[in-house]
This record gives sequence, C-alpha cells and structure tokens, in this order.
Amino acid sequence: MTAIFDAISEPIAKRVTSGLAKIGLVLRSRAWKGAGTAGVTPTQGHALGLLRDAPDGMRLGAIAKLLGISAPTASEAMNTLVTKGLAAKTPGVDKRSISLVLTPEGEALADQTREWPDFLADAVDTLDAAEQAALLRALVKVIRALQVRDEIPHQRMCVTCEHFRPFVHADKLNPHHCAYVDAAFGDRHLRLNCPEHAEAPASAQEDAWERFTEQGRVSDGSAAANEALVGPVPRQG
Ligand code: SF4
Repeated sequence: MTAIFDAISEPIAKRVTSGLAKIGLVLRSRAWKGAGTAGVTPTQGHALGLLRDAPDGMRLGAIAKLLGISAPTASEAMNTLVTKGLAAKTPGVDKRSISLVLTPEGEALADQTREWPDFLADAVDTLDAAEQAALLRALVKVIRALQVRDEIPHQRMCVTCEHFRPFVHADKLNPHHCAYVDAAFGDRHLRLNCPEHAEAPASAQEDAWERFTEQGRVSDGSAAANEALVGPVPRQG
C-alpha cells in the first residue's frame, strides 16, 4: 500500500520547501505590516533587532553581512535610523572604526519589531517539547547547508562557533558544551543568533559539524533527551 504513495507523492524535500515558502510569504507580509505601523522599513526593523542583541554595538559591515544586504543599502538604512534618533554612531573597540548602537528610543522600537514573528512562535508552541527540539535541530542543519553554499547570510549559530564542543558529555539531555560559558547544553538550547558567537576556523567548523551530525545519528541522545525533556523550550535568538 505504501508503494502507491511512494509513486504518487512529490519528493518530501519539495513538499517541505513548499511549506517553508508559505511560511516565508506570511512572514514577509507581517514584516511589511509591522514596519508600516512602526514607521520603519522591514530592513530597518531587522537591523534594529540585530543591534538589540549587540549592546556593545555593531559595525556596518557586520550588519550588512547578517542581513544579507549590500554595504550601501545597510548604510542607507542605518543613516535613516540615526537621523530618526533610533541609533547612534560610536567609536568601535579599536577606536579607529565606527560602531552603531541603539538609543533608548531604538531599544524600545526594537522590542516592538521583534514581536513581528510572534504569531509564528505561537504556532510553534503548539508542538510538544520533543518536536520543537527536533525542529530546531533540523533548522540548524538546513541553515548551515545554505550557509555553506553562500545562499544565506552567515548566522551566529553554535554549530559555527569556536566555543562549540558537540557531544563531549555523557549526559544525553545535555551532550554539548559551550566553552564560552563553560556549561553543558542540549539540542533544545542550540542558538541561531548568539551575541557571544565567535566564528571558528573552517577546519574546526568541519570537525565540529561532523561530530554533531554523526554522533547525533548514532546516539539516541536527541530522541531520548527530547522524550525526557520537560519544561518549556527557551525562546532565544
Ligand atoms: S552558546 Fe554562543 S558562545 Fe556558546 S557555543 Fe553557542 S554560539 Fe558559541
């Protein structure tokens, strides 16, 4: 009986892609609606969100890279935010460069623009804890695959971070280690936008990725951990 469906079904990758495209469409339309209300463009709104996670400020190049836009477009967006009193220019850590930081008004607006995708978070909340953790792990893998092909801006994810040590603990619930905070964590804690992220060298990223995917396959860590998981999955970048 299954063979019939094998023959008549579109490949699963295509159906998943179609589902993601539908979600992307709604996200875009919500961003435009929210941006109109907040008096900023979606790009400016996303830039505000990035700066909210970077209290020490970010350089223009980093903003452009993370948003996947050109330097002139980022510059135009940031100049508008500065003119509106939502962001300010400040000397960078090395004193020679310029960083952008949010003003208190910018922080307030960033908190507002961050709520744009909340309708989606509410939908994800209908999944149980194990499903949420599995979805997060799957998303990390898809985003990483896109990053490798340069089809998405590089994100500050654990799997590309020099502090990430996958599957170094016997604890099935928390098999990974973050050397930055020196603490164990699990798949459900994987970050997609961590302010403490430090890009690991390419070879170290490859090694970590191999361990993360291989061990994830052979270990029953994810499944067992997820089944045993209790309590809410923290919402974070
Ligand atoms: S939590 Fe942050 S600092 Fe730690 S491994 Fe993940 S990205 Fe790196």
